[in-house]
Formats: sequence, C-alpha cells, structure tokens
Amino acid sequence: MARKRLTTTSGAPVADNQNAKTVGPRGPVLLEDHQLIEKLAHMNRERIPERVVHAKGWGAYGTFTVTDDITRYTCANIFNKVGKQTEMLARFSTVAGEQGAGDVERDVRGFSLKFYTEEGNWDLVGNNTPIFFVEDPYKFPDFIHSQKRHPRTNIRSATAMWDFWSLCPESIHQVTMLMSDRGLPKTPMHMNGYGSHTFSLWNDKGERFWVKFHFKTQQGHDFYTNEEAAIEMGRSRETYQEALFGAIERGEFPKWTLFIQIMPEGEEDKFEHNPFDLTKVWPHGQYPLIKVGELELNKNAENYFAEIEQSAFNPSNVVPGIGFSPDKMLQGRLFSYPDAHRYRIGTHYESLKVNRPRCPVHHYHRDGTMPFGLTTNPDAYYEPNSFGGPVEDPSVEEPPHRYDGVVGRYNFRAESDHYSQPRALFELFDAEQKDRLFRNIASAMEGVPEEIVERQMGHFEKVHPDYAVGVRDARKKL
Ligand code: NDP
Repeated sequence: MARKRLTTTSGAPVADNQNAKTVGPRGPVLLEDHQLIEKLAHMNRERIPERVVHAKGWGAYGTFTVTDDITRYTCANIFNKVGKQTEMLARFSTVAGEQGAGDVERDVRGFSLKFYTEEGNWDLVGNNTPIFFVEDPYKFPDFIHSQKRHPRTNIRSATAMWDFWSLCPESIHQVTMLMSDRGLPKTPMHMNGYGSHTFSLWNDKGERFWVKFHFKTQQGHDFYTNEEAAIEMGRSRETYQEALFGAIERGEFPKWTLFIQIMPEGEEDKFEHNPFDLTKVWPHGQYPLIKVGELELNKNAENYFAEIEQSAFNPSNVVPGIGFSPDKMLQGRLFSYPDAHRYRIGTHYESLKVNRPRCPVHHYHRDGTMPFGLTTNPDAYYEPNSFGGPVEDPSVEEPPHRYDGVVGRYNFRAESDHYSQPRALFELFDAEQKDRLFRNIASAMEGVPEEIVERQMGHFEKVHPDYAVGVRDARKKL
C-alpha cells in the first residue's frame, strides 16, 4: 500500500525527517531548517495545564438507553421515550493526584458524563460518592489545598488533611466514606456514580421536582485494601486505564443503571436536613430510587489527549427539562468549571470535536483564539438583526423559582446535624468493614499532632462511640 507523504503543518511535503540541515557533515545547524524548528517548538507546546483537581483520568464513549418513563417529572428530550438512545462520553478521575499519579490511590473518584442530546449537551459532573466534604464554595479552595502538596516540603500532608477535616465537622460523612472500602475501588467499573448535588427537573406542565441522580454499577462493588493497593501500584501505576480500556477492547462493556430520587418542589421543609446540603444524602426509605435507564460504555477514544484530556465537562451544561438547585456548592461549580476550561483549553473549547454538541449550534460569540467550526450568516453577526439570524425560544424557559429570604451570610454549621447520617453509614458496615475503616484512618493519621487527632476523635465519638474506640485501638496496633 502506498504510504502517505509526510508534510509540514502547512501541508508541504517533507524531504528529510532524519537529518538536520548543517554546514558540512558535523554542523552547525542552519536556522533555515524551519521544519526542525517547527518540530522542536511543537513539542514544547504538547501540554496544556492539567486540571487543578481531577487531573488523572480515564474515559470512554458509550450509550444511554431509557428503560423507564419519567416524563411525569421532566420534559428533557433525552428522557422522552422508553427505548431512546443517546450517545455519551464518560471520564473518571481521582481528585488530588497529578496527571501521572498512580491510579489506585485512596481518594474520591470523579464520575463525569456528557450526554450529546438533541437539545444540547447535558453534563452530569459527579463523583463516586453521593456527598462531599464541604457544603459551601468558600471552603472548596481551602479543602483542595489541604489535600495537595505542602508548599515547603512538596509532599502531601496528613497534618493538613486532618487539621482541615477536624475543623470542618461537616466533612465527617465523606471522610467516613473515603476511609471505607468504597474509598479505593478496584477499577472505574466497580463503583457507583452520583450526581451528588441536588438538581431540578421540570415537566411540560411547568411543575418542578428536586432530583438526585444515581448510577449503580452492574459490575458490583469491588475494592482494594491499602496493602493490596500498594502491591498493585508497584506492578503498574495505570491499572484503571488498563482495566477500562482493556474491557472495552475485549467487548466486555461496563454498565450502570440510572436511578433518580424525587422531591416535589414545596416539600423541602418536610425533610429533616437542608435538601440542598451537599454533605447530606436523601435516605432511600424517604425518597425511593426510581429506575430510569442504562448506561453502557462501548467505545475507546482514538486519541487520549484529544478526546479525554481535552474533554470539558460543565455542570452548567443543562438542557430544557433539567435545571439547577440552590445547592451552594453547585452554584460555585457553575462558575468554576467553564472558567477552568477557558483557561486550560481556550475560549472555544466547546468547538473541539469531543465537546461539540451533536445538534446544531447557533450563537453570536465571535472571534477569539481558534474560533474553528464557527459558522455565521455573514450579515447576522449581532442580535437582534433583520437578516435571518438565530432567535431566542421562550418556550424553553424554565418555570420560575420561588426563592425568598433575607440576603446575608448564613452559618449553616450552627444548626446542621453532621453526625446522624455518618452514623447510619457506620451502622451499615459489618465488623470487617469497620475494622478496615479503623485501620485506614489510623494509618492516614500517622505523624499528625495529637491535638488534631483528639479534635477529630471528638467527631468520631459523636458519630458513634465504637467509631472512636475502634480508631484508638487501631492506632495502638500500628
Ligand atoms: P439505605 O440502606 O437505603 O441505602 C444505603 C446506601 O448505602 C445504598 O445506596 C448502598 O449502595 C450504600 N452503601 C452500602 N454500603 C456502603 C459502603 N460501604 N459505603 C458507602 N455506601 C454504601 O440507607 P439510607 O438511604 O438511609 O442511607 C444510609 C447511609 O448510607 C447514608 O447516611 C449514607 O451515608 C449512605 N448512602 C446513602 C445513599 C443515599 O443516596 N441514600 C447513597 C450511598 C450511600 P449500593 O446499593 O450501591 O450498595
């Protein structure tokens, strides 16, 4: 088969890709060897800034299929018919580690989904836990700093982590999950995904429902202990990539079942907690899981960098029939995520093939760095115009929210119950799970000053006396 000619980036054929152009056989190199300069300069620009959080990731394409009718809750086009299929992209990640971090570190896992719907991309940018460490966006940068490298030692600091957690009692629920078996899943296929925040749905009658999204793994939960993970990490740092990529190449397509929990608007006060507090779940007994559909991952990316590293998920990408909620962390993320992508990738990051909607896109944003793919009617480059440019569609406006209240800064910590839900979780664990929880915490606390340990013990005690006793005993056995 005839091979294609190598060209420069401007398309001219290249005569020699082995030997620099020199004066005589020993050099020096001529500046006019522009292809050499292009090659070296291009290499210097091969990286884009890695994500500050969720830098290490694994992803694949898939299909979402509706199995159950939820049109009574939402008019979102993606859910409008049982059997309907929508192409999608998933990216999983750890939170704290950098791009080259080992895959099997104990950490929360990102679980980000992009559904290419007929009415635009719907991104659900969640985690493998239904809750988070903090409930106010003011706390997010501080929380992340406490998980990242110490500025002087450049080593992650157990002292910083436990200092922050012990001073933010709302974190105890997520800390318990992180230190439990689900804090170290064996592969991305062996974990659930949660939208985590409360979102909203609205139907064609204009009725709003608060909603939580749950993707339950059909592969079952599986996890590593810290000891097993250390061995696994010695074998390979890329075990998640190997597992996910390999399974899809072999045709063993991983699947998740989508469920929702529903709370009708107006019933917020019937719930004993703030339903928009990201550190709390909605108990299944009160808000039962309603089956919606099935997600299957079935196609690997052809180019990891182009399709997974440059994939850009935004919680702000919603479609008619799906909306936000007053969840403060969600509101913070609505700013942070698109801002991160504009910084990392560029103004037109949503024109990249992986991020581009698969439905028509018509807007009036202009110019900027690499505005590829932008097609405009040349005379209709502003709005309103008389030249047939795209116009708004008031029929897709969401029903009005009924927020009322006094503007202020409310300290939710004073009235919030941080302990009963972690207690319910603790009580779900059998004796072996509890034992692993205690040992994971004890080893994570190594080297932490006693004053901080004791402050945290106070929180374990309030969750359950056995919790504190168990951690103390495990510390003695280290
Ligand atoms: P349920 O018993 O009805 O639900 C328990 C949930 O906990 C199930 O979704 C189950 O997920 C999950 N679970 C089981 N074992 C573990 C574990 N080792 N680590 C983390 N999650 C686990 O009770 P409630 O709804 O009243 O919740 C009780 C507690 O369970 C909560 O306080 C919360 O900590 C935790 N939880 C609750 C969830 C919710 O949305 N209500 C979701 C996840 C956890 P699975 O079915 O996949 O095994």
